[in-house]
Amino acid sequence: MSFAPIPSPAPDQIPGENHNMPLITNPNYSMDAPTLRTQASEVADSEFPTTQEKEPSPPPTTVIHPSPGPYSTPQDDLMEYNAFHLPESFEYRVLGISSEHLRHNVLERAKQEWQRARNFSVIIVPFYMSFSLTQIQKAKTNTTIFLKRAFPGSQGTLTVIPAAKAMDQQGEEPLPWGIMIAGLMYCDAATLLHHQFWLSKAFCFVAYPTTPFISTWIGNWAFAMNENDKPTVIECLKSNLANAHTKIGKYLHTKIPDAAEHLFVIESAKVQPINVIKQNSEATHWAFTVDSPHPTDANQHKQWITAAEATVWYHAEIATGELCNPRNTCKCCKGKDHVSARTVIWPARTPIQIG
Ligand SMILES: [Zn+2]
Repeated sequence: MSFAPIPSPAPDQIPGENHNMPLITNPNYSMDAPTLRTQASEVADSEFPTTQEKEPSPPPTTVIHPSPGPYSTPQDDLMEYNAFHLPESFEYRVLGISSEHLRHNVLERAKQEWQRARNFSVIIVPFYMSFSLTQIQKAKTNTTIFLKRAFPGSQGTLTVIPAAKAMDQQGEEPLPWGIMIAGLMYCDAATLLHHQFWLSKAFCFVAYPTTPFISTWIGNWAFAMNENDKPTVIECLKSNLANAHTKIGKYLHTKIPDAAEHLFVIESAKVQPINVIKQNSEATHWAFTVDSPHPTDANQHKQWITAAEATVWYHAEIATGELCNPRNTCKCCKGKDHVSARTVIWPARTPIQIG
């Protein structure tokens, strides 16, 4: 497999970077893009035009089924903008982010503009970008170069719409960071969402749908279990979901009385070990993901998360888990399941450093 190493960001690009911070590894990551699936199931495939050109003036069709597609990597003097081919086994998904999260501190008029964007569109979050005019100008230029060479079919129609902030915000990394890409060909938008991570020497970003989406991540828990104990941990998650006497089980039984729907939620449960190294000692935390019973309602979804956090995750073999959510959002990909100082992803044997 040919895979060029991802350049590590210079330490001065990451405020507060500390090389003793926890390391995150994600071996065998397996999530079938639930965070990106959004409302896809509500729209029949037949509603999608087969070719973008045949639609005279398409209404804003925003639902996109993520699927792999081609992208080009021209051999010219801008090769540093060529997208790296991520290995097949690279299945990492950003966890803990929602469409609401992408719109924090975005000007109301800008949000309306986003909504009106011509199909097909995605929102990208460039790595390490805090909102500032210089950054946004640089990101706009980089985005345009990257996308036009990777997706020549969309070259003539795509527009890059930078975020507009609603108010000045203090802090290490003021929002917003999202840039909307509108006017893509359907297949290009689907490809962008499928891989989610787009890495090149010059510019790296994460792609999100513009349609409402809610994370499947319900929290990280620490158990006296290592990576080899995955089957037991998943059993713990599923049995507590199915048990009407646990906080989360009770919530699920009450809100989703339909047995089949209920089972569907339980069966969607996945766990992912996260190796955390803190002060020279290593521990395994487990990220729990389950399809939300409220995939379109952020407020109800919060109650579901509250129930998850109040649950005593008990299993006879592993006793109980302890909630271990990172305190801050990852500065790099904006995920909430891991810290930002160093996000190292290990697809198969090829480590890919993304942050
Ligand atoms: Zn991250």
